[in-house]
Amino acid sequence: MRTSEVLHAWKKILRGEKPSLSIEITRECPLRCPGCYAYAPSHLGEGRGLRDLSDSKGQSLVDGVLEVVDKYRPLHLSLVGGDPLVRYRELGQLIPEILNRGIHLQVVTSAFRQLAPEWAGLPHLNFVVSIDGLQPEHDVRRTPATYERILKNIKGHKITAHCTITAQMMQRPNYLDDFMRFWSAQPELNKVWFSIFTPQVGDQLPEMLSPSERTRVIGELLELRERYPKLDMPKGLIRQFATPPHTPQDCVFARTTRVLSADLRSEVAPCQFGGTPDCASCGCIASMGLAAVAAHKLGGLIPVGAIFKASLRMGGATAAQLPAKSPGQLVMPVKSHSQP
Ligand code: SF4
Ligand code: SF4
Repeated sequence: MRTSEVLHAWKKILRGEKPSLSIEITRECPLRCPGCYAYAPSHLGEGRGLRDLSDSKGQSLVDGVLEVVDKYRPLHLSLVGGDPLVRYRELGQLIPEILNRGIHLQVVTSAFRQLAPEWAGLPHLNFVVSIDGLQPEHDVRRTPATYERILKNIKGHKITAHCTITAQMMQRPNYLDDFMRFWSAQPELNKVWFSIFTPQVGDQLPEMLSPSERTRVIGELLELRERYPKLDMPKGLIRQFATPPHTPQDCVFARTTRVLSADLRSEVAPCQFGGTPDCASCGCIASMGLAAVAAHKLGGLIPVGAIFKASLRMGGATAAQLPAKSPGQLVMPVKSHSQP
């Protein structure tokens, strides 16, 4: 992250605003991925899930999203779901409107349908495609968004592949290497991000990594990034996987990102996972990315995190007094809507 981007975010925090916004623009998805957190029964807290909300479509969705965007004026916006491509025509209207506002836009999708040709190459627009490992495992979990279909649907685009690492992947040698080799060779691939499976508190799931598997992932990613330039994960970010935040209060990402669900009103808390995520086992790339930024010392002296935390306190006090203003660009990775 550039210093200018940190400063843009800092200004917003001082005004009591969150620089990043994520919107679940639809509750619909044609996939039924095992372990999808968006459809967990307690995603929205108090036993409410995404399917319990009413959502919009057509002009009402377009107007509703733009109203929210104009209200919060984020530097960075993620459109997730469900799958945002369910609202394909509405996306066609929203994308230019949002980009024209100077906002960096990310669309998180399974790429179950074709990305429109007119969206290719637009500056400050990033399609993040969720890919659950190598083809045999992915295709079982993500039909109809199989490898074959994804490769067809992203033709002519440059996408980011996002893969959530599970314990099952770590049981097979060189799994991450094989993943990088396959996707690095695809001309449509711009970059790859990895997260690590994040459980809810109390979960006992086969996807959860043991401490030694987590350590091995960190070592492998540090090594893979030297061989695969498309692995877009700085060393400082990868090392943060060893010390995830212990609570949402410690998580810079959660504290600087507002997540709205499909009725465009309900907030998903404490972060995009909803429910009661186990922060101490967090593997969210966005959380680690911002933790790495927070660990960075401005001028080699003052940790950005200390400035952010002080600013969050000040921002809370001044939010009601200062006007919102000045969109800019803060490019921060935001977690995919899905994890296996
Ligand atoms: S992103 Fe991770 S660390 Fe941050 S609140 Fe969510 S689970 Fe906790
Ligand atoms: S993980 Fe994403 S693609 Fe899969 S069912 Fe959930 S919302 Fe749909």
